[in-house]
Amino acid sequence: MAASRFVSRNVMLMNLIRRSYSSVSNVKKGLVLGAFTKGGCYRLTPIADYFDRENQSVLTKNLEVANLKDGKSRIIYKPGLGYNAVAVVGLGPEEACFNHSERFDDKKENIRIAAAAGCTSLQEIDIDEIHIEELSDAEASAEGATLGLWRYQEWKKLEKRKKIPCVIPYKLQNKLDWHNGIIKAEAQNLVRNLAEAPANYMTPSIFAQCAQQELEKVGVQVCIYDEEWAIREKMGSFLSVAKGSNEPLRFLEMKYDGGTDCQPIVLIGKGVTFDSGGISLKPSAKMDEMRGDMAGAACVIGILKAIAELKLPINVIGLTPLCENLPSGKANKPGDIVQASNGKYIQIDNTDAEGRLILADALCYAGKFDPKYIIDLATLTGAVRVALGNVMAGVFTNDDQLWENIECAGHVTGDRMWRLPLVKEYSKRVNSYPGVDVNNVGKCLGAGSCTAAAFLKEFVPENCSWMHIDIAGVAGPEQQLTVPYLNKSSTGRPTRTLIQFLRQIA
Ligand SMILES: [Zn+2]
Repeated sequence: MAASRFVSRNVMLMNLIRRSYSSVSNVKKGLVLGAFTKGGCYRLTPIADYFDRENQSVLTKNLEVANLKDGKSRIIYKPGLGYNAVAVVGLGPEEACFNHSERFDDKKENIRIAAAAGCTSLQEIDIDEIHIEELSDAEASAEGATLGLWRYQEWKKLEKRKKIPCVIPYKLQNKLDWHNGIIKAEAQNLVRNLAEAPANYMTPSIFAQCAQQELEKVGVQVCIYDEEWAIREKMGSFLSVAKGSNEPLRFLEMKYDGGTDCQPIVLIGKGVTFDSGGISLKPSAKMDEMRGDMAGAACVIGILKAIAELKLPINVIGLTPLCENLPSGKANKPGDIVQASNGKYIQIDNTDAEGRLILADALCYAGKFDPKYIIDLATLTGAVRVALGNVMAGVFTNDDQLWENIECAGHVTGDRMWRLPLVKEYSKRVNSYPGVDVNNVGKCLGAGSCTAAAFLKEFVPENCSWMHIDIAGVAGPEQQLTVPYLNKSSTGRPTRTLIQFLRQIA
């Protein structure tokens, strides 16, 4: 009930906003046009050049004094053709391409940054409707515009909210690329909405209902399982974390059928809707950010929605264990031993290392689908933030091909990955204990992310291609703007990279 109230409230408000726009007769229109910039000089894109010639060289005249910079925008008011303003954006050098040292496509990233800069500068002057050109790459332009304009303001009075202008492509040629860009960016924004929601409005049950509402309309099957089911599946590890909270656990099994008979790819997302640390309580500073400890599960929802909309010819199963991690009289205590569904006993030395406990049972369960690959996404360790900051997600895999594919996907999307080691030395830290099969923290000798990955490996079905992505650094909230087109909230990263990865595989 709470979910439908939550969702319908938002839908209602969105409709109100739309209605209030359409009831205004003079809709304020803005236009985003591009110019390649290099060494203080600029060259308009063909579409911008055409606009310029049609409107008495209004852009050329203004840019002569504007000193347009890469990734920045310059507003020109009343440029003609009924527009209230045009934002000319600096696209960087025209010849930009894959940047070997930066590990991404400079041109695409420049366009995303510029598109977002143009759209947000028009948003600042209360434009209702933004028309934007391809800026030489329709997909990147659509992504930058859609991601840049996103705001989380669900709990603010309607009249105090920032206006979210609608985005319309201008003189579009590559319709398919534009469409793909919108789908990817909207999926990422969905992830941001889920991850940013307060934990009292995003409990395991509400998350499950939101997933159902988002996915069933695009043809993805959603099964919601409860505690009794988890008991039948002998998920002792997952159950042990969930029992500390009064909120009932949920486990989602989602199925996208791409109409082929290929083995499915299983995506698993960590869904701790609030992580206090449990009895191993976290410090209170920034504990509010732990409402985002379900970002992995949110990514799985966003990815499934996008691949269903893109109609990719692959089969994908999504699995998300959902629970809260709270201290109570029923919570796990340091030193407790629980049994996972593959029979292994786990000693819980730190109840704050709960993500791996719930993922352990999900990984075992994934084996039932005879998967081609298993990929898990989790805000798993603070250590990955120490290692890589919020720049790249850490990837661990037993399959070099998977690594090559995901790295390549990051080059295209700009949301990059970095491979970290998965060698026996780390496994020894978690599995060489005299009295128990596995320990959930292991011997503390640094490299916490590698140790966590080694723990998960203990639960991966035998002979399975598996990739673990630690997104604790990149999921946000951003403390400083590493990615100029994402503002200081949940980032929804690395949703687009996974969608791109699946597109490449398909
Ligand atoms: Zn934790």
